Amino acid sequence: MALDGHKYLFVLGGVMSGVGKGIASSSVGLILKQRGYEVNLVKIDPYLNVDAGTMNPTEHGEVFVLSSGLETDQDMGNYERFLNRDLGPEDYMTSGMVYQSVINRERALGYHGKFVETIPHVRDEIIERLEQAAGHNGSQISVIEIGGTVGDFQNGLFIEAARVMRLKHPNDVRFVLVSYLPVPNTIGEMKTKPTQSAVRELNSYGVQPDFILARSNDPMDEKRKEKLAIWCNVRPDHIISAPDVASIYDVPMNFEKDNLGNLLLDALSLSKDTPADFSAWSDFVTRIKSGGPEVRIGIVGKYFDTGDFVLSDAYLSVIEALKFSGAEIGVKPKIEWLNAKDFESGENIEKLGEYDGILVPGGFGETGIEGKLKAIRYAREKKIPYFGLCYGMQLMVVEYARNVLGLEGAHTVEINPDAPHPIVAMMDAQKEVLARGEYGGTMRLGVYKEQVLPGTLAHKAYGKDEVEERHRHRYEINPAYVPRLTSAGLVFSGTSPDGVLMEIAELPESVHPFFLGTQAHPELIARPLAPHPLFSAFLRAAAEKGKAPA
Ligand code: GLN
Repeated sequence: MALDGHKYLFVLGGVMSGVGKGIASSSVGLILKQRGYEVNLVKIDPYLNVDAGTMNPTEHGEVFVLSSGLETDQDMGNYERFLNRDLGPEDYMTSGMVYQSVINRERALGYHGKFVETIPHVRDEIIERLEQAAGHNGSQISVIEIGGTVGDFQNGLFIEAARVMRLKHPNDVRFVLVSYLPVPNTIGEMKTKPTQSAVRELNSYGVQPDFILARSNDPMDEKRKEKLAIWCNVRPDHIISAPDVASIYDVPMNFEKDNLGNLLLDALSLSKDTPADFSAWSDFVTRIKSGGPEVRIGIVGKYFDTGDFVLSDAYLSVIEALKFSGAEIGVKPKIEWLNAKDFESGENIEKLGEYDGILVPGGFGETGIEGKLKAIRYAREKKIPYFGLCYGMQLMVVEYARNVLGLEGAHTVEINPDAPHPIVAMMDAQKEVLARGEYGGTMRLGVYKEQVLPGTLAHKAYGKDEVEERHRHRYEINPAYVPRLTSAGLVFSGTSPDGVLMEIAELPESVHPFFLGTQAHPELIARPLAPHPLFSAFLRAAAEKGKAPA
């Protein structure tokens, strides 16, 4: 199915990884959207995992779940946040996914007795998938980010697929290279040579970039632009200066300074009639930068072992969700990372009193679990606003069972399968899945509806009776314990429509200013232009505490 007139903009990375290809792609997507086009952003991850679900966030950053339930890379989160749009499973592919389809087809005699080879069969499977992505959701332009760096062995087949697409649709396919221009300390001058080499490397695939987004610490001068133009065979005005900026949300407007929107539309032979409207976006950027009073939020988590940058990647959506709500209500969340292990002995627990709010994010396994439970207890008893996400909600209920109901040994069966009081348990369908050893893509994943109980904190925040949230978990609050928990004062303010699954737990406002946990991952649907109401409610409560005299 070739889509006539659909435009494809491939974004590739040159020189090295980590130069912000994902943000560059998101920004290009937003710029085109602001010109009145329907845009979908597509991520290609060259690894062999069939999805990102089996990967450890410490190494790969957070797993971002789409509404369909597909577990993907954190870049998909940035795409959705910039576009303010849900993306589909068609918009994500890994080498594992591509190969799995080809191999399954071969097993089903789908190639009619032919040799099955990477070229053409795997390459054509990639093209077919890209065309499917183009065909859904009314999109007119696909911005496709090919993961990795030009010259990697792993992404070569995807670049080859892109080359063939350009050959087939010469007017509809364009290439953008996101490159890096270092300024070595000893020389103090911005060097273009690594980018020249990256372009030559890309040329060896038969691909010539139409645009270069030149990442660097500082803006690029004209001289460097001219040099790159001559050596890389790219029009000088198609070389866009992309210096570091204070906030990732500044990037689209920064690209616009170099007229990127008009240039891209010209290159794609698309009309420029609709002027760009950045008013809502720039208003958000101004608010996120101006901040307001600081609100100290302690995040008690576990993915802390490999240095600072890991933290922000493992909990990326949580951080962004807090920022969006901060911008909405005019406060500046100051996030501090607290290692759950440090609270295990109970010794440092008083430190938590310094915070205006405590958040326990999603997680898996045993590490730091008793520390998290102690932190939750402290937040409950000292009336510090508390927000629990997924695991943070399950543990909040375990804490309540142990310390308010006095159920000794209350636990989640994830940690103690023989717990005398299995407060958090596994539903039967999940037991069967695991008995078959099927770990990948088998949790409760994606969007589910929930019913919200009027008169509760949750209802006050959402302002409606029914909401949709994204999920990623295997365990649930055990329905057998719900009556006892409820009579001890815990309120289940959100449930599945059939009333079986407990989706939100909270304490009444008369007892605690904000003590609420959700089984879902609201951070996954928080957007710059649509902050999440539960994050906003939590921050409001935290800001109130911040104002009170210590
Ligand atoms: N480990 C828990 C479960 O599987 C919580 C998962 C999460 O926090 N995403 O149910």
